[in-house]
Amino acid sequence: MRTIPIVAAAPPRFARTGIARFGDALRRHRGAIVALQWGVVLCYAVLVVVPAFMPLPEAGASIVSNLRLAAQFAFWGVWWPFVIVSIMALGRVWCGLLCPEGMLTELASRHGLGRSIPRWMRWPGWPLAAFALTTVYGQLVSVYEYPDATLLILGGSTVAAVAVGAIYGRGGRRVWCRYLCPVSGVFALLAKVAPLHYRADARQWQQYQGPRERVDCAPLLDLRHLASASDCHACGRCSDHRGAIALALRSPNREILAGGGASTAPAANNPWPARLLVFGLLGLAPGAFQWSASPWFVALKQGAAQWLIERGYDSLMFRDDLPWWLLTHQPDAGDVFSLLDGLAILAFLAAATLVLGGTTWLALRAAARLAGGLRWHELALALVPLAGAGLFLGLSMMTLSQLRAEGIVPGWVAPARIALLAAGAAWSAWLGARLVAQHAPALPRRVAAWTCFMLPVALSVWVWARFFFPSR
Ligand code: SF4
Repeated sequence: MRTIPIVAAAPPRFARTGIARFGDALRRHRGAIVALQWGVVLCYAVLVVVPAFMPLPEAGASIVSNLRLAAQFAFWGVWWPFVIVSIMALGRVWCGLLCPEGMLTELASRHGLGRSIPRWMRWPGWPLAAFALTTVYGQLVSVYEYPDATLLILGGSTVAAVAVGAIYGRGGRRVWCRYLCPVSGVFALLAKVAPLHYRADARQWQQYQGPRERVDCAPLLDLRHLASASDCHACGRCSDHRGAIALALRSPNREILAGGGASTAPAANNPWPARLLVFGLLGLAPGAFQWSASPWFVALKQGAAQWLIERGYDSLMFRDDLPWWLLTHQPDAGDVFSLLDGLAILAFLAAATLVLGGTTWLALRAAARLAGGLRWHELALALVPLAGAGLFLGLSMMTLSQLRAEGIVPGWVAPARIALLAAGAAWSAWLGARLVAQHAPALPRRVAAWTCFMLPVALSVWVWARFFFPSR
């Protein structure tokens, strides 16, 4: 009897959709991207350095007529809030195509010493530690208000990025971005809900017969198993590599419902991104945005002042001659923090982190336990949309206060804030319900677990609603 050989059908090549072809175009036009990056580096250098040596704006100056105000608006009114939006909408295109710090560290690493990356640098807690340190320090020196503080923090970060690239970099790798950048961890969390990502087809990869080209993936990713948008800088350099990688659309829920999109066990077992989300974005960040207008902060400071006066420590606590790079000291602007101010800010931020973050963490652990088989750090990722909405609301306060100073007062701010907060909360609530349902088939457990999960959602909504609408 004649046997018929079984021939495996060749896997269908990734359809080069319009989106995939856009990714291919990014790969082909590296020269144009590099030119764009140099343009951003130039603008960044001017806006970071020059305003730090300018005098205070005169009365009546505006963002159109004064470079100092223009730079403040560019960094904190436009750049920060809209980078957050772009990452949730498009993935980390800011990192891959525009970020001046990423570009400079990559350039340094092309001529770097290529030393092996030390173990301390690989510690997975750096994204949380770097975010917390930068946020707290930024509040102490009033980074949003003063260009010398901006130069110190942004410029210092850029110098550190270049130094890390020069020492540990090799062949265009972004060691700084991968391990130490203070906002990389935040971007990695927000990118989990981006509806665009580069993905690899494992079968196509395996069956590829063409020439073996090397791709310089700046964040050092395993291209063969590319699935998550978290660490990918969306630079397009690997698009169509081995005919297996393409820029593609996906459901914005997919990565979180798949347990954080962790295609590899080490990523799935890493609780640090969830710690950053819970204690950093849902704890420390609201505290940092709200302390200056909080009645609790005023009460804390008054109580501490009273206590210190009664014990005779007033001369030490009320001294306000610390250098501006340690604590805000801008006498020309009439803005000087005393030691008591600094300690009260630290205490308020620590309390916000512990109370908001700690409550969220406990509720998530209880919810995950009730659901059974679900890890708290996987469930925590369902809070990414709400955290992203909170970040945007906090950062857009700078945008609005700067616009108000220009006489531009949009009338739709309150309804837009309510809509954004409601959308973030509803999206997180739905993701939480889906994750719980995947693990808890019995209805009573499912309801109990989801109720626990909803506690941090309600807490976060209350914190923002109370802040924006204090009389309601
Ligand atoms: S995987 Fe690497 S090379 Fe590919 S787009 Fe992302 S950052 Fe660029």
